[in-house]
Amino acid sequence: MSTVVSEPTEIAPSPAAVRADGTPRSYAVRTFGCQMNVHDSERLSGSLESAGYVRSDSDDADVIVINTCAVRENADKKLYGTLGALAGVKRERDGGMQIAVGGCLAQKDQHTIVEKAPWVDVVFGTHNMGSLPALLERARHNDEAQIEILEALETFPSTLPTKRDSASSGWVSISVGCNNTCTFCIVPTLRGKEKDRRPGDILAEVQALVDDGAIEVTLLGQNVNTYGVEFGDRQAFGKLLRAMGEIDGLERVRFTSPHPAAFTDDVIAAMAETPNVMPSLHMPLQSGSDRVLKAMRRSYRSTKFLGILDRVREQIPDAAITTDIIVGFPGETEEDFAETLRVVEASRFSSAFTFQYSIRPGTPAATMEDQIPKAVVQERYERLVALQERLSLEENEAQIGRRIDVLVSVGEGKKDTATRRLSGRGEDNRLVHFALPEGAEEPRPGDVVTVGVTAAAPHFLIADDTSGYSVRRTRAGDAWDRRQAESCGVPAPSSAGAARQVGLGIPTIRTA
Ligand code: SF4
Repeated sequence: MSTVVSEPTEIAPSPAAVRADGTPRSYAVRTFGCQMNVHDSERLSGSLESAGYVRSDSDDADVIVINTCAVRENADKKLYGTLGALAGVKRERDGGMQIAVGGCLAQKDQHTIVEKAPWVDVVFGTHNMGSLPALLERARHNDEAQIEILEALETFPSTLPTKRDSASSGWVSISVGCNNTCTFCIVPTLRGKEKDRRPGDILAEVQALVDDGAIEVTLLGQNVNTYGVEFGDRQAFGKLLRAMGEIDGLERVRFTSPHPAAFTDDVIAAMAETPNVMPSLHMPLQSGSDRVLKAMRRSYRSTKFLGILDRVREQIPDAAITTDIIVGFPGETEEDFAETLRVVEASRFSSAFTFQYSIRPGTPAATMEDQIPKAVVQERYERLVALQERLSLEENEAQIGRRIDVLVSVGEGKKDTATRRLSGRGEDNRLVHFALPEGAEEPRPGDVVTVGVTAAAPHFLIADDTSGYSVRRTRAGDAWDRRQAESCGVPAPSSAGAARQVGLGIPTIRTA
């Protein structure tokens, strides 16, 4: 693969990031929406920290950034509710606070946000996240709201500095935007046509994450497996997966979300033949009815979908496959819904994100006739959830007795303290709660333990078989130790030479 690398986007220190007494101003980012938004927020944090702001995470922060989502239901109510609550906080702070709104809903509503909430200082879109520090500075200097929305991508967001939330795992964007036109989806309108990142940039960012201690990477794209469409290589995604296998120290590779229409056998082969590509696959079904798929403008049909799953399982027998399903799309009949139940039963997903269809203004489906009454959607939804809960439980029960490797996470289980268990993710991405043997050394987040599965629930596994329990201390665990030490202001000896927490998206410049 080409190893040409783009120049990183540099963010200059901003005078607006410093209080009158010389101390740095603080910021907090609140994220609504999907994984793309979570990753975008890491870049917003990185840009702000490069400009000189420090993280706070509380409502007392000097700058509150809301990264919005227009895909989820009631997105605007959630935004204006949050802004309403912040209005009072800002009034009490008497000019000491700024509020910025970015992301998909900002791209869509633009001036409406400042009309409805005139106490907002900055509105920016999905294409110019790196402008946030400059816009905050201008808003402060001019004492008026700054609205800057670009219709096309200014710079590929991954060249922006990134402040990662996890020491062991990182998100790496390989493309943004989407060339499809699914009739329920606002993404093509708000994020534009697919833009693919150069392979050299992707590999360089992954290498930089690994050098910084990460052992797991998730490749992100709205339509991840059409990667390469922009530079005319239909097999580019499979090649990229294989290239991930060459990166020393990278133990777990995942990706989300692929589109069934473009899911080709070379990708399945690359998954099966690249040892660090994990046996998990998120494959959005949306509907099992061919008639509804056509109305959704999803260009695969149920037979093709099930055929992909068969071929994945032939080559990767332990693959855990998850999905997204929408219930109650306009015009969905009882027969259509029965098709969805049939395909779900046959697919044996290990879990599913199930959604009740609701109108998203601006999408073609919003104005379709035959919108389904809420009560009908609800009743179908409950039947689908009941079916999927049974399947999830059966699929998880089939894991009992297996010995599995779990990447320890930072507290994923609410009851962990009460049950004295720790949590993490198996290779197939299942959530696992596990017990420690009496007197055993506690693994750090980022370490990998081997445990035996003893029980199952629809949404997690319990692994209390401690015979043969082992811990493998990893570089990710070391990176977690460093972060802990640095957050207490104590430089950890092992951090010498390692990048500080604000890593650039690509490795040519380090902040160390
Ligand atoms: S593939 Fe369809 S659902 Fe996914 S982002 Fe593109 S238009 Fe939206």
